[in-house]
Amino acid sequence: MNANFHTHTYRCHHASGTEREYIEKAIDAGLKVLGFSDHAPYIFKDGHYSGFRMHPEELAGYVQTLSALREEYKKDIEIRIGLEIEYYPTLFEDTLKFICSQGVEYLLLGQHYAMGEFPGELYSARESSDPKRLQAYVDNVLQGAETGLFSYVAHPDIINFTGDEEFFESELDRLVKGILKQNLPLEINLLGLAEGRNYPSHRFFKILEKNNATVILGSDAHKPENVYNAELIESAIKLTRHYHLNLTENVDLTRLSSLTC
Ligand SMILES: [Zn+2]
Ligand SMILES: [Zn+2]
Repeated sequence: MNANFHTHTYRCHHASGTEREYIEKAIDAGLKVLGFSDHAPYIFKDGHYSGFRMHPEELAGYVQTLSALREEYKKDIEIRIGLEIEYYPTLFEDTLKFICSQGVEYLLLGQHYAMGEFPGELYSARESSDPKRLQAYVDNVLQGAETGLFSYVAHPDIINFTGDEEFFESELDRLVKGILKQNLPLEINLLGLAEGRNYPSHRFFKILEKNNATVILGSDAHKPENVYNAELIESAIKLTRHYHLNLTENVDLTRLSSLTC
């Protein structure tokens, strides 16, 4: 692995480590490109502040810090500045307006809640057999992908559906086909793999295989030492071979630049 585009920092209020600590770990591991994708601030209509993502007023400092570090470390590593964010149809536009012109280069689509982060909403990785929830998850990820603004889809199989297996397969097949149609790689999430979460899952790999999917490894590092784990990367690569997936490191980081502020 030469590049990792999925990295968090202490700024999202549930990860640890400064930008510099992640960069130094990445250089030690021999990474050539390190993309930061901390959890974006979301602009909620009622002014609500999420406790597990960057606050809106912290975004400028994030970009400034990374821009300075990019210059400082330019001989050792290429630094890219991104955010991981959900696609919530009713909130996305306001959030984009806020992010636009702040110097963010790319967005990863990570749908941590199927419909929106509203009171009573379930985290996507929590078990649920509700078909409406699965359908909303797929609809929103696909609508997000169709905006053309995202560079890849993080943990596309985060949705922890425990209902009818055939319905799961047909919905996730629809998800994979739609994402591939947009020429976006699907992530194999190394954090989920390390922690034995519901993602990445074999049932999802089979759907990827059937669609001859292009995948990318993402560390989803929430602490600096997790930015590169050789053993974990090796086991993820074995999985991609087992399921005959196309592993890429090429990510189009210019998509967000089409946005006019
Ligand atoms: Zn995520
Ligand atoms: Zn993440």
